[in-house]
Amino acid sequence: MPGSSFDDLPWFFDRAHLHVVERARAFAADLAVDERADERARTRSAAAALGAAGLLAWCVPERFGGAPVGRPDDVDVRALTLVREALGQVDGLVDTAFAMQGLGSYPITLAGSEAQKARYLPGILDGTRLGAFALTEPEAGSDVANLQCRAVRDGDGYVLDGTKTFISNAGVAGQYVVFATVDPAAGREGISAFVVEPEDAGLSVEALEVIAPHPIGTLRFDGCRIPAGRRLGDEGAGFKLAMGTLDVFRTTVAGAALGMARRALDESVARAGARVQFGRPIARHQIIGAYLAEMATDLDAARLLVFRAAALRDVQGAPVTREVAMGKLFATEAASRIIDHAVQIHGGQGVTRGSVVERLYREIRALRIYEGTSEIQKLIISAALLRA
Ligand SMILES: Cc1cc2nc3c(=O)[nH]c(=O)nc-3n(C[C@H](O)[C@H](O)[C@H](O)COP(=O)(O)OP(=O)(O)OC[C@H]3O[C@@H](n4cnc5c(N)ncnc54)[C@H](O)[C@@H]3O)c2cc1C
Repeated sequence: MPGSSFDDLPWFFDRAHLHVVERARAFAADLAVDERADERARTRSAAAALGAAGLLAWCVPERFGGAPVGRPDDVDVRALTLVREALGQVDGLVDTAFAMQGLGSYPITLAGSEAQKARYLPGILDGTRLGAFALTEPEAGSDVANLQCRAVRDGDGYVLDGTKTFISNAGVAGQYVVFATVDPAAGREGISAFVVEPEDAGLSVEALEVIAPHPIGTLRFDGCRIPAGRRLGDEGAGFKLAMGTLDVFRTTVAGAALGMARRALDESVARAGARVQFGRPIARHQIIGAYLAEMATDLDAARLLVFRAAALRDVQGAPVTREVAMGKLFATEAASRIIDHAVQIHGGQGVTRGSVVERLYREIRALRIYEGTSEIQKLIISAALLRA
């Protein structure tokens, strides 16, 4: 049964969050990781299972069909972060399946018409329609405002041309929120958001493989024509929509990192207590004891930053970009340090394919890159300092 102390941070939560944690932990306790299984098939079944268990209900605000927690007209970042913390302890792929239902639908929650919400959100909630968020391009990664994917108005529709890469759920998604420019000269003010469906002619998908199981790939739009009614919000409002979405979901990335780090710490305490070298458990050798102390302290510091960001966002209902960046930066970097120590404490077993810490070592790495690299988080924090 995955665990993590919830009672030690009571001031960040209310009673509804206790219910979220219990449900998420119960679901996570039943998971069995199988890295040999096809990752796309596993993602589809994970989404369906998450939907059947009711966990996806926190990916959509109560007002649009989700479950009550926090404010009825928005998602609750604490709930999303707590679920990812529980899933991250057990299976990174299931965590991704959960996260993408939120990330891939939040622009629709924020800017979608009633008709768009009615078409796309029910499948998000029950896990039958997988979401995707397509922002990154081969030449526009960290510098997303420089994206080149074009959307040209043509009668009652738009024609999309360009390439998106490193898109999670590529090839399994039932809806892609795609950011493209309608006016390259206008820079970020020209960027708009659209929903593309997998059956749309002119869309092709090529799979990529990363170091831990994660359905991901490149999308190519070649004269891909979509109805004008698939545009989300106004023309030119896409960049703000993308940033508003990331401002919510970055904190949840940090939540997954907390879960992975917690699991690494738990595994390490157990191993260091049981493994005897030089006549005593390795935990009783001061260097290993100090590693455990550093890991626990890093993890608690990370949790405080992450749940501060989540609670501020939920309570204030406004972007808290600096605190979110601090939480994501610190938690993903700390989790990497913690997991690296865990591998060291496990010795040869730590790098043996199939061991828990070996998998965590691969799973954690991408979290310092996606939804804004650690370096970009530092730029966000320093820009906020300089503005103050
Ligand atoms: C597993 C995974 C899943 C992903 N899922 C999605 C998804 O679903 N949707 C999506 O749109 N994207 C997704 N991405 C893409 C991800 O958001 C980008 O990889 C990320 O934003 C970095 O872009 P890049 O890879 O082009 O790196 P680059 O931008 O080329 O950066 C390379 C290095 O340069 C550094 N750098 C860049 N600019 C600066 C600067 N100004 N100052 C200092 N350092 C700088 C970066 O921090 C990094 O260390 C995913 C990526 C991964 C690995």
